[in-house]
Amino acid sequence: MQTNQPYDYSIPDVLSGQVVPGKRCVVNFGKGTRLVMGMVVGVQDAPDYAGTLKPIQSVLDKEPVLDKELLQLSSWLANDSFAFWITCLQTMLPTALRTETKRIGKMDEFTLVDKGHVQTVYYVHPAQTAADYATIQASVRSNAKKQLALVAELSHLSQSQGEVAAHALTREYGITLGMLKSAADKGWLRLEERETYRHPYAELDDMPRTKPLQLTDQQQKAYDAVAKSIKGQQAATYLLEGVTGSGKTEVYLQLMAAAQAAGKDALMLVPEIGLTPQMVARVKGRFGSQVAVLHSGLSDGERYDEWRRIARGEAHVVVGARSAAFAPLHNLGLLIMDEEHENSYKQDDAPRYHARDVLRWRSEYNHAPLLLGSATPSLESRARAEKGVYTQLLMPERANKQPLPPVDVIDMREADLDEYSGDFSAQMLAAIKDCLSQGNQAVLMLNRRGFSSFVMCRECGYVAKCPNCDISLTLHMDTHSLRCHYCGHEEAIPRVCPSCGSKRIRYYGTGTEKVQQTLGKLLPDARIMRMDVDTTRRKGAHGRILKEFGEHKADILLGTQMIAKGLDYPDVTLVGVINADTALGLPDFRASERTFQLLTQVSGRAGRAEKPGRVLVQTYNPDHYAIRLAQKQDYERFFALEMHMRHEGDYPPYYFTFKLTVSHEDEDKAAKAIFRLADMLQKGLSDQAIILGPSRAAIARVKRKYYYQLVIKYKNEPELQAVLESMLESTQVSSRSGYQIAFDREPLSFI
Ligand code: ADP
Ligand code: ZN
Ligand code: ZN
Repeated sequence: MQTNQPYDYSIPDVLSGQVVPGKRCVVNFGKGTRLVMGMVVGVQDAPDYAGTLKPIQSVLDKEPVLDKELLQLSSWLANDSFAFWITCLQTMLPTALRTETKRIGKMDEFTLVDKGHVQTVYYVHPAQTAADYATIQASVRSNAKKQLALVAELSHLSQSQGEVAAHALTREYGITLGMLKSAADKGWLRLEERETYRHPYAELDDMPRTKPLQLTDQQQKAYDAVAKSIKGQQAATYLLEGVTGSGKTEVYLQLMAAAQAAGKDALMLVPEIGLTPQMVARVKGRFGSQVAVLHSGLSDGERYDEWRRIARGEAHVVVGARSAAFAPLHNLGLLIMDEEHENSYKQDDAPRYHARDVLRWRSEYNHAPLLLGSATPSLESRARAEKGVYTQLLMPERANKQPLPPVDVIDMREADLDEYSGDFSAQMLAAIKDCLSQGNQAVLMLNRRGFSSFVMCRECGYVAKCPNCDISLTLHMDTHSLRCHYCGHEEAIPRVCPSCGSKRIRYYGTGTEKVQQTLGKLLPDARIMRMDVDTTRRKGAHGRILKEFGEHKADILLGTQMIAKGLDYPDVTLVGVINADTALGLPDFRASERTFQLLTQVSGRAGRAEKPGRVLVQTYNPDHYAIRLAQKQDYERFFALEMHMRHEGDYPPYYFTFKLTVSHEDEDKAAKAIFRLADMLQKGLSDQAIILGPSRAAIARVKRKYYYQLVIKYKNEPELQAVLESMLESTQVSSRSGYQIAFDREPLSFI
């Protein structure tokens, strides 16, 4: 049964003094002999529990892994996101410390598997005098070359009072650790084991440091405002609206330096895909080995080491993706969130937190300013700036005074697309040729992945669907298979229709792979690089593609949304959007906002240096306001118009929202449960609250479970917290009968 409360255990004498809040420990939980990992959240003289207490079995950590701030944060997070407290505690720890209980043999026999491996290296110290080594040398057989080399080395060390790393001896003489250990047993030497860190970006630590740039007037104004709050230890939130290329990153860097000068730590969040090696290099270039980097592209071990460097106060500047919001810095003086509008800051598993809210909490706790930056702030943040909750800072010009690139919209309804040019209008193709003929580079964005969306029978309309989920399978030409993007199910592409036996199976939709092939035929001399989920699956692939494109090893970079962020290459003079409409077609109230953001971001990739750039956008909706205003890069008009639409539709930011989703293997049970919850809400909330649904989720079946949902829209509901809490409690019982309820505060979408 899932549980959501602290439990009392006694501290046995052998552990006295070791049990401290923030340390992980092992306890016997429930009936039987089941051992689980627990987190010490408090120590008190007398128990709250009246029965007999079980003792804590062992303590896993020498030092607390969560400090007072993070413990308090975990409790707030559990409350705010309606997640179990233990889930929140686990979320804050690096994977390596999330000890799992693993079933061995019978039901209630569990063992602890600690994935927290500290990497160590051995050092060799001499244990005898040079004279002793001379004696030892005489006793070694003359053909035992390695032993002789070792003794010579030891003799040398005993005179210089030095030490040598074991791996150096292995490299030089082939002396293994085993040989060293037996030599240690004979008393020849002393072996010392020392902890080391894996350095994911070691090569960047030795780079020459970059100097701060002379700030432009608009940068200086933004800097001064936030720097004042750093010095004054104010928990203010700033919203920096700066067009792409306005020099937001330089402002971040100088503010981090200001925090350092004040003896404080700085934390900067960047969207996962914005955390390019280029970005890391910019921060490391300024702060060197002071910087720790945390993102999912690192191995568990690397992340664990970076995390420990932070926790131990050895790194004072942290750059990371969403989960770095929990970086164990002890003395925060500045928090930054770049591209604050990005969806990837919201976690879509429990706890469903938004990193922005976590940073705001830490900003309050530490009396440190929070700086949110974006060229296209989320409507929520911009509305808060309007109300004075956040302080608005503006940087409307590019740092190099270059104008923003002109954006041309191509109406695809009128474009003459012959069979041969596939997804390319004549204008787009001409622009690419023109760009390449001048030795420049082009970036092309396609709002999709895969070769083509789906497979359909032309005879009977059969579409290949996932057997576990309510969704069509995606075609992948690289593996010649159909894959489900939800559960990973994979199967061969059918040659004949499984439904009617016809051979008229066709591929529909477009994908990066297909566009790459078309482009290869249209421009046989162009070197094309592709960047999407499939080509970046392997560790480091993302960075390698960007690096090679930066070295001009390709003329065209073709990719999905992930190319819209952070690219800053002087030779890119053309940005082409092949299909601007994909997001607009979704039944989602944020569709316009997303389209506007994406087009603005990707346009910002062109003409960043001296060479002027241009942007071409192919669309079937040239009159849509999101596309028209993105063309003019007019955020203010877009904000005004979109706020009006949201007001009309009672959508955020005019309303708060909360989504509840129930799942069960039995569809009937899932449906009944969601209606029960709707009933509870109706009774508990005021009649100003609006409940959308209950309804079947847009993708009603995933991994063999059925999903039903409802969305609450509300303005002021003091009772909501209590109602939801009682639901959370009831799930502790119902999860035994196969129900699951997902709580989602401010969901990213209603579908
Ligand atoms: P943003 O993050 O707003 O998109 P960047 O920080 O990447 O913008 O800056 C865009 C370009 O302008 C970069 O090449 C950067 O080196 C340059 N730049 C930024 N600030 C200055 C400055 N004060 N003086 C000269 N160049 C600058
Ligand atoms: Zn068929
Ligand atoms: Zn599936």
